Amino acid sequence: MKHKVAGRLQKSSGPSVWLEFSRLAELVEGINLGQGFPDWDPPEFVVEASIKSSKSKGIHRYARSSGHKNLVEEITRSYEERLKHKINPLADVLVTVGASEALYLALMTYVNPGDEVLVIEPAFDLYYGAINMAGGVAKGVSLKPGQDGFQLDPSDLDKQMSPKTKVLMLNTPHNPTGKVFTRDEYLEIAKVLKKYPNCIVVSDEVYEHLVYDDMEHIPFANIPGMGDRTISVYSAGKTFSITGWKIGWIIGNSDLVRPLQGCQQWVVFSVATHLQEAIAMCLQAAKEPYQGESSYYSWLREEYTQKRSILFEGLKHSGFKPILPQGSFFILTEYEHLKPEWDHFPDTENSMLEQGKIYINPATRSYKDYNFARNLAFNNSVVSIPVSAFMGYCAESSPDAQRYVRFAFCKSDALLRHACKKMIFS
Ligand code: PMP
Ligand code: GLN
Repeated sequence: MKHKVAGRLQKSSGPSVWLEFSRLAELVEGINLGQGFPDWDPPEFVVEASIKSSKSKGIHRYARSSGHKNLVEEITRSYEERLKHKINPLADVLVTVGASEALYLALMTYVNPGDEVLVIEPAFDLYYGAINMAGGVAKGVSLKPGQDGFQLDPSDLDKQMSPKTKVLMLNTPHNPTGKVFTRDEYLEIAKVLKKYPNCIVVSDEVYEHLVYDDMEHIPFANIPGMGDRTISVYSAGKTFSITGWKIGWIIGNSDLVRPLQGCQQWVVFSVATHLQEAIAMCLQAAKEPYQGESSYYSWLREEYTQKRSILFEGLKHSGFKPILPQGSFFILTEYEHLKPEWDHFPDTENSMLEQGKIYINPATRSYKDYNFARNLAFNNSVVSIPVSAFMGYCAESSPDAQRYVRFAFCKSDALLRHACKKMIFS
């Protein structure tokens, strides 16, 4: 007997783009510029913190459900300055299993079945999955490519918002476009939000330290009048190159965070104690001078600035039309002019599918960006991510949805250079 998954999950129960393309990277033994994980070992002070913390007395027991005391206190010290307001470590902070669990909890706690959740598209695909699990209805507002990178027209946002909008999902620096929202853009968004006092904002800031040139990361909670309705989400994964640790945190007003702390008890109850202790040490250490820079954060920014330039120039040299990102570790590029014939599902993958070696979302079989990325993996051994994966359910309906692929530059300089050399098209 075939058991049906719950109706609200039918759209999202198939394999995501990560399952298909990470597997493809293994099968073709290719260079994986797909999933965004740094391919180097974390800095020495991070590894040392994990060794030291795992040797501490009493550290291998369940942690306090809302977060290990040393970590919530260190988060408070580190973020009071950035968020420019007092933080109560016990009531305003929640430690989660990565930013992923933070996003899930925020949506499960505040969205009733049928409530609308507005996402700025393209958007990190996990948002759509979590919205579905909560029984919410995702509505999109598109970022549009322009002279100065991707732009959001506040009047589009205004048109999509209604008293039914329970949550607005914001993300800066933005995955996948690399856009960094400016204070002026956020003031415009805040103007629209003021008409809808019941709408909560979930502000995903996991790439907070990865901003380039003269851009500045602006936490949405710092915009006047927005602090009390904003749930800010962070992750140690990107900042310390430890995506496998899965430690994230939420900061917000206690009225918003207390119910999330309540929900945490029923999901994972608590997060790995010794890793939380280690992150507390890392947050302290990261403020100190590092490798000739004023702090670990400045060093990280410099490193990524160089990697961005290697991949951007390399993609241009290969004939792509990349868009220079202002933040994050991703570059979007147009690709259709290079190999228009690569719009078909590759035969090699078809046979892998038949042999059960790979598992795909069948709806994507005809998508041009998926097929370009699949063919690129088979022919050039370089794995990218098709951007229609970040379009929720409108990848078929929106003409722009299949226009780009995404490359990640959180990889060694040598690997980035090697990947670009492999992408010379004849
Ligand atoms: N938000 C965005 C925008 C991301 O790109 C990711 C990917 N890692 C996450 C959240 C999830 O972060 P974590 O790995 O800490 O769960
Ligand atoms: N956030 C990372 C990316 O966009 C990883 C995504 C994931 O594994 N779910 O590449």
